[in-house]
Amino acid sequence: MAVTENQIKKVLSEIVHPETGNDIVSSGIVENIVIAENGATVTLFFRKRKDPFANSIKRQIITAVTENYPELEGKITVSIREEAPEQKKENDLKSITSTGNIKHTIAVASGKGGVGKSTVTANLAATLRDMGYKVGILDADIYGPSMPKMFSLEGYIPEGTTRDGRDYIIPAERDGIKISSIGFFISPDDALIWRGPMATTALKQLLHQTLWEELDFLLIDMPPGTGDVHLSVVGEIKVNGAVIVSTPQQVALADVRRGIHMFQTEGIDVPVLGIIENMAWFTPSELPENRYYIFGQGGARNLARTEGIDFLGDIPIIQSVMEGGESGTPAVSTNEEVKRYYRAIADGIVENLKK
Ligand code: ADP
Repeated sequence: MAVTENQIKKVLSEIVHPETGNDIVSSGIVENIVIAENGATVTLFFRKRKDPFANSIKRQIITAVTENYPELEGKITVSIREEAPEQKKENDLKSITSTGNIKHTIAVASGKGGVGKSTVTANLAATLRDMGYKVGILDADIYGPSMPKMFSLEGYIPEGTTRDGRDYIIPAERDGIKISSIGFFISPDDALIWRGPMATTALKQLLHQTLWEELDFLLIDMPPGTGDVHLSVVGEIKVNGAVIVSTPQQVALADVRRGIHMFQTEGIDVPVLGIIENMAWFTPSELPENRYYIFGQGGARNLARTEGIDFLGDIPIIQSVMEGGESGTPAVSTNEEVKRYYRAIADGIVENLKK
């Protein structure tokens, strides 16, 4: 027997918009359901332009419908309509200063992907928290948001709230660290070409509408390289400093240099607080005195010298660092050696911010 419109409507009425708390059927978001021979199409209408929850609602619909009616697997299409743009709204958004109560906003950047930028962000956040600071992380890596995984927040759907007539997104919280991720709003399965512009718009909302309350540090996990997202972040909010992560490999270093120069460009003027060399060497546990410089030695330290920026410290390859990224708890919380490396780096950052 074919699935009916009412059956689908019933499934959809269980889904709520996190910001309003109302279900999407009775609040009018579900505009239309069409059942055809080759599948079903649901049209959603959002009164708010670029509603940051649109995409997660779309994902929930596909999951819920296929869970209830497996015969619709791969045959359900969800299209999104929204209110026509209004000039005024963009200005409204900009005037919200959700980062106004944050003492230091720091971008964590890298020339290349895979050098450990997200791992460093998570561990640095946990270290600063252990030093007594109030810390938040904004995961702006639209091409590979890792914070949901690093803090066991996969599938997390943020809630919304209203304060003084304005809509805000409430960040997640893990062990005292507030976390907001572009990964809460975009699906890794969506095509990059579509995801790019959509994610940049969602990111702007995260930058302006996340209810951070008071923070000493907001660490922004940037996408690798240099690009639109970087310009968008530094253009939208005040960034007090950038920390650059690199491995010792030369190939990584050319990109790193570009990254440093981007922050230093006139008009952007974000002070580079220093460079961190990650995966600096490997020490096997059976030979604790030995250091193997697998990716070369001291590249980032030399680069810091030639660029006239600070070298903040190095972190060797340590198995528990990788495991920490998988388990949801950053390694600094479980491993004393890792803790020491990160503490030295965090001290350097705090010191450089005073200059
Ligand atoms: P990026 O954010 O630069 O793309 P990630 O933080 O995702 O990089 O790190 C890439 C991989 O390397 C992850 O699997 C991570 O666990 C691992 N990794 C990062 N730093 C270390 C380290 N110091 N020791 C061991 N593994 C590490």
